[in-house]
Amino acid sequence: MATTAFDSPARNTRAQARKRVASADRAVAPLPDPQPRVATRDVKSPVPELNPRTHSYEFAGPIGATILSVTMPMIVLGLNVLCTPDGCPAASWVSSTTALVAHLQPRVAWSALFDPGALVAYLGWFAWCVAMYRLLPGDMVRGTPLRNGQTLLYKINGFNTLVFTAVCLLLVVNFHGPDLLLYIADNFVSIIFSAILFTYAMSLGLYLASFKGTKLLALGGNSGNPIYDFFIGRELNPRIGNFDLKQFCELRPGLIGWLLLDVAFLTKQYVTAGYVTDAMALVVMFQGIYVIDALYNESKVLTTMDITTDGFGYMLVAGDLLWVPFTYTLQARYLSQMPATNLGWLGVFGVLALNALGYYIFRSANSEKDAFRSDPTGPRVKHLQYMETAAGSKLLISGWWGRARHINYFGDWLMSVAWSLPCGFTHPIPYFYPVYFAVLLVHRFYRDEHKCKTKYGKDWDKYCALVPYRIVPYVW
Ligand code: NDP
Repeated sequence: MATTAFDSPARNTRAQARKRVASADRAVAPLPDPQPRVATRDVKSPVPELNPRTHSYEFAGPIGATILSVTMPMIVLGLNVLCTPDGCPAASWVSSTTALVAHLQPRVAWSALFDPGALVAYLGWFAWCVAMYRLLPGDMVRGTPLRNGQTLLYKINGFNTLVFTAVCLLLVVNFHGPDLLLYIADNFVSIIFSAILFTYAMSLGLYLASFKGTKLLALGGNSGNPIYDFFIGRELNPRIGNFDLKQFCELRPGLIGWLLLDVAFLTKQYVTAGYVTDAMALVVMFQGIYVIDALYNESKVLTTMDITTDGFGYMLVAGDLLWVPFTYTLQARYLSQMPATNLGWLGVFGVLALNALGYYIFRSANSEKDAFRSDPTGPRVKHLQYMETAAGSKLLISGWWGRARHINYFGDWLMSVAWSLPCGFTHPIPYFYPVYFAVLLVHRFYRDEHKCKTKYGKDWDKYCALVPYRIVPYVW
């Protein structure tokens, strides 16, 4: 799932991105004229075999797709409705169904959820991101070759968008006070509901538009079952002109929105309590670093499965626009409602150390593999041991990738724990992210094992014998 929850911090540096721009022409087959095979509009596929029928289902097929399409928004909404100043959730709702129903009933009524002002605010935010994408400068980077032989150009200006938005926000707060941020914090549930409506509308629009003209479809999203294809994503690279909807949604409205929501909750705490707790400061700082890192390395997203393989349908739209911004902010929202949570110096040091350890493992393991895949003889990796494979690619067997087969996941997960620890141990909902993330990473581990086993065959078995631990060295 989108990663569906989004596919995180990218690992390329800007220099690598520029290198890719420079080397892109060499990477693509010789071109008879400047750019005849670079599509900036709809990708036309004159050969019908390019869009074969999908015969195998993921996520338990149409039934699973239906369940997930309905339950994802309910989970996002439910977690937030259940997190109030009375508790997250309040003990009385856990022990008494009557109290739970009494709490939920008025809060999930249409009149409580739908607010035209919140809808306008949400659409305004989306429109702002579109405007920034169009207006701000950015490198044009070529994506990986598509199966019809074309490559697409992508504008990389997510980091510029973040910086410009931050400057504008500072000016607004400076001249008009924090009202805009307080509005977001106070109308959070209505904003979530607006995002849910938008997610369904956009996914339906994408599904219907995929039948217009001859589009390049995702290999996994052309089953002919409307519910399944709506969910999994039918068209591979939906575009309006040269505006790539999938790339745009991956890292902008949801990811920058995540940080904006965090800042809104920090402001709410400051205005209502008169101070910002160390716990809140740490959560916003950690998550801010994660978001900045992802946007700074935006071009890396072009090689992820989300962009190269998955169609753009409900699964990715909901992951990008709903799941990431409205469940990854649970900790900051909780702390804005519980301003008494403070860690003290020892707690601050412990959480900082855990996050730093996680980031160190995550970043150096990912960078090591990137460096090795770019140039195995490069100065940073030439001392590492590796094994040759019949498939052609080499596999590292020392360094980070000799300690566990997915040690990068371990680092990422440690960070997720560090983001929840500042919330203390009184309420469970702030721990939703590390629990869900552990499930996601284990599921992703098995998907990647399957992919590597298929690609490397017996060589993969040899690698597993040399590197027996899966994610956590000496444990699993
Ligand atoms: P990885 O970066 O873990 O890459 C896996 C690939 O690396 C394999 O398919 C294989 O590809 C190659 N590989 C495996 N073993 C070796 C080896 N020993 N030597 C060299 N290459 C090897 O992929 P992911 O996209 O799953 O993860 C990237 C990062 O994104 C992780 O840090 C993860 O935690 C994070 N993430 C975050 C999410 C979030 O929601 N926050 C969601 C998902 C991921 P090949 O051999 O074909 O090159």
